[in-house]
Amino acid sequence: MPKEITTLVTFFGATGDLAKRKLYPSVYNLYKKGFLKDHFGIIGTSRADLTTQEFQDFVRDSIKEFMKEDAPIDFLRHFDYQKADITKADDYAKLKALIEKLDTEFALKGNRIFYMSVAPRFFGTVAKSLKSEGLLSENGEFNRLMIEKPFGTDYATAEQLNNELSHAFNENQIYRIDHYLGKEMVQNIAALRFGNPLLAKAWNREYIDNIQVTLSETLGVEDRAGYYDTAGALRDMIQNHTMQIVGWLAMDEPASWTDQDIRAAKNAAFNSLKIYTPDEVAENFVRGQYGPDAANTQNGYLNEKDVPADSQNNTYVAGKLAFASDRWKDVPFYIRTGKRLAAKTTRIDIVFKQGFNLFTNAAPLEKNVLSIIVDPEGRIEYTMVAKDTTAEFKTRPITLNWTVSAEDKAQTPEPYERMIHDTMDGNGSNFADWNGVAVAWKFVDAIQSAWDATQQEFPNYVSGSMGPKAADELLARDGHRWIYEG
Ligand code: NAP
Repeated sequence: MPKEITTLVTFFGATGDLAKRKLYPSVYNLYKKGFLKDHFGIIGTSRADLTTQEFQDFVRDSIKEFMKEDAPIDFLRHFDYQKADITKADDYAKLKALIEKLDTEFALKGNRIFYMSVAPRFFGTVAKSLKSEGLLSENGEFNRLMIEKPFGTDYATAEQLNNELSHAFNENQIYRIDHYLGKEMVQNIAALRFGNPLLAKAWNREYIDNIQVTLSETLGVEDRAGYYDTAGALRDMIQNHTMQIVGWLAMDEPASWTDQDIRAAKNAAFNSLKIYTPDEVAENFVRGQYGPDAANTQNGYLNEKDVPADSQNNTYVAGKLAFASDRWKDVPFYIRTGKRLAAKTTRIDIVFKQGFNLFTNAAPLEKNVLSIIVDPEGRIEYTMVAKDTTAEFKTRPITLNWTVSAEDKAQTPEPYERMIHDTMDGNGSNFADWNGVAVAWKFVDAIQSAWDATQQEFPNYVSGSMGPKAADELLARDGHRWIYEG
């Protein structure tokens, strides 16, 4: 039986794209599953002048459009709306009155969640105003803040934002969203690692040769150059999603399965990550920018709309992470991400050390590889050594393969549904905490500043390939190769 949750959620940016596409459908799914029943209230707010009825229509239309379902009135009656400009302190009083009204109407016990689905420049202002204008409940079980990405654009801005949030919320009340942490197969990393004695025992430098994390996209910059040219793949994909996946891979076993212990274990790993000097950046990181495809039918990055002709922006990053912990000393974690690559996928390849070859007449043993495929479909593959079926005693690699079935997939919550539920439930296991975010920024800032100080010849990879040659050479130098070749 689902545990019914009693809470009020206030969505800032209630008329925005994210709210319409993801947030209302997620809330509806939680209602259908019985997590939300009688004691929930949802408030939408933005500058748009909407009546309660118009807002409920907006929510109903979003559910119709994105779920193809008719939301019942019994669900919609829990939604209310307040017009407010979040930059105006006075407007918060009207919001406060509505919060208190719904609190009484649905018996919400003062439990409050504030979801900031607005542009990042507003995050600090909203958090501070929630406190200064008295919107936080004083007698409820919780006040929680859900905060969208990006969390800063470098360490300094992230720290400033964090300080602003800290005026109103402590770390345990802040749920920093990284939707990759809400993905089913990312959450599966922990089950695989800690649920299987063989893997649990072998998850260290004694048995693992190297770890590879790939987040590849086939699309180019499309119409997002305004943002993307200032961020690049390093800030857009490495600082957040890639590093958060690495956290689950690199951590030690937590002392218990609570969010506090999980975060502590991840943080111990993050804190052992080597932050590179400029020389080490040159040695361990590769940046790329896409050119046209081989047939010259697609623009290179420099010819995309709104991209400056001399842009030094990275649309591809590959690099090697080094952890100083006992578990990972000398085990490289290779990461890569990029646009206009050969395939769209998110995957993790764990390459185990080569076995000792006892057999006669046998070729060198292939390394075992455990692959966790996150997108586009959930899959786990394990490539291992087995006997060739011929008369001679020879070996060959075989692959065990499991794919998430359509039936399983139908039951799997979308990341946003999971993240909203976990916040309602007070479970921060699958959110980025400040220490992890801070380390990731320091790591990424060191790379960015080394790159800012040197010019690179671009483009250096063909659209539709798997990135620059230098990324293959990075692994080849260590005697390794990318497992996934597109
Ligand atoms: P959006 O479509 O531009 O919506 C922004 C919302 O903020 C609107 O409801 C807007 O309504 C409101 N707003 C703007 N200025 C305001 C003000 N001064 N006072 C009150 N409300 C104001 O943005 P979005 O795409 O939904 O993105 C929201 C957040 O989610 C951003 O932080 C973004 O980075 C993050 N995000 C979005 C996606 C996505 O798929 N869209 C994915 C990941 C993360 P009014 O203009 O009517 O006030």
